[in-house]
Amino acid sequence: LADRLQNTIQKIRGKGKIGEADVKEMMRDVRLALLEADVNFKVVKEFVKKVSERAVGQEVMKSLTPGQQVIKVVKEELTELMGGEQSKIAVANRPPTVIMMVGLQGAGKTTTTGKLANLLRKKYNRNPMLVAADIYRPAAIKQLETLGKQLSMPVFSLGDQVSPVEIAKQAIAKAKEDHHDYVLIDTAGRLHVDEALMDELTQIKELTKPDEIFLVVDAMTGQDAVNVASSFNDLLGLTGVVLTKLDGDTRGGAALSIRSVTNTPIKFVGLGEKLDALEAFHPERMASRILGMGDVLTLIEKAQANVDEEKAKELEKKMRSASFTLDDFLEQLGQVRNMGPLDDLLKMMPGAGKIKGLDKMKIDEKQITHVEAIIQSMTKAEKEHPETINSSRRKRIAKGSGRTVPEVNRLLKQFDEMKKMMKQMTGMQQKGKKKGGFK
Ligand code: GDP
Ligand code: MG
Repeated sequence: LADRLQNTIQKIRGKGKIGEADVKEMMRDVRLALLEADVNFKVVKEFVKKVSERAVGQEVMKSLTPGQQVIKVVKEELTELMGGEQSKIAVANRPPTVIMMVGLQGAGKTTTTGKLANLLRKKYNRNPMLVAADIYRPAAIKQLETLGKQLSMPVFSLGDQVSPVEIAKQAIAKAKEDHHDYVLIDTAGRLHVDEALMDELTQIKELTKPDEIFLVVDAMTGQDAVNVASSFNDLLGLTGVVLTKLDGDTRGGAALSIRSVTNTPIKFVGLGEKLDALEAFHPERMASRILGMGDVLTLIEKAQANVDEEKAKELEKKMRSASFTLDDFLEQLGQVRNMGPLDDLLKMMPGAGKIKGLDKMKIDEKQITHVEAIIQSMTKAEKEHPETINSSRRKRIAKGSGRTVPEVNRLLKQFDEMKKMMKQMTGMQQKGKKKGGFK
């Protein structure tokens, strides 16, 4: 679907003004993208209406094509809908600050409790205590205790024979005694929202007067997440939402719906099972993700800011005349580099989100550094006439750059092949028409 969106953009590219029909076509794609990402249909309807109004007749910025301009409006509005960045955590006037973690079974409460405690200590220099108040799920207490051990943080528990309300009460007294400034209560979940659970949570709330009640929601549950969030919010009054399992391949449309239906800010996102896999919620990134198009705009902006147009033209001329030297090559590498870390760039490419294991794949930036070092170890004459680089020169270059002779050989061979290809291409462009071109 992201491809469809791209196609539509392509179609209306180059137009000076965006007509109503163009916007309509794009909005159809946007609507589908949102629905496919599990955004609530009412939210979609309102959203599309708003964007259409803004997009029709928008003057097109010089540097962007109309299609991208519309996408920009879409992104801005999506970002706005999800609220600004809201990763702040309350601080109680009188410590400890109490945070209650609630949510359905398997949503990630216990894991997120550990992650949040980790974040509180690392980022805010706090001294949290964890409370095991899920006495129903087998091994739930043990799970939290294991996390506590990994973090070297105390976990308060009274086993599974004492009521959660009593556990919470005693935990807070203990936290005061031991001078903990944060108390994170990991509560029980159910497969569905039910009365008994809500009663228990309400009692814990009345008793502990939490400063924050965070609902932990599994991003993969899609539409259902909205109903869950509504129920919890109606009964408990949430102060924030943590959206977990965004490391999976869900689009995360739930984020948008939750925010607009419950008006509760999404504060954090969970991006993995490890204890450091919790991040502040970035509405802008989420907007791109929901649209399924990567950070296309950021990518374009970055490329425009970093690639010097004059230089690019010059390079092109050189390529055509085949007087492209290793120095030019070096410069080109530099420009690619200026755009930022390669794996960041890759992640921003449309469709890249779908490539499995991309985050685990490290693009070898060292490789570029090596190539740069090798070229920099050549003399000016060598760079302009690489064919003069004999074996003793290769040895010297290898030594000077701290690389090996085979690496130098490989680079020279690659460069040679690149030049040949350029010659062929320019040759084809010039003679192509007469000779019938490509073979
Ligand atoms: P609880 O029942 O709500 O306490 O859920 P748990 O904390 O026990 O988590 C249920 C499962 O989801 C566990 O296997 C967790 O490791 C996993 N999990 C939690 N958060 C994330 C996340 O952000 N990403 C991924 N991939 N897994 C998660
Ligand atoms: Mg749990």
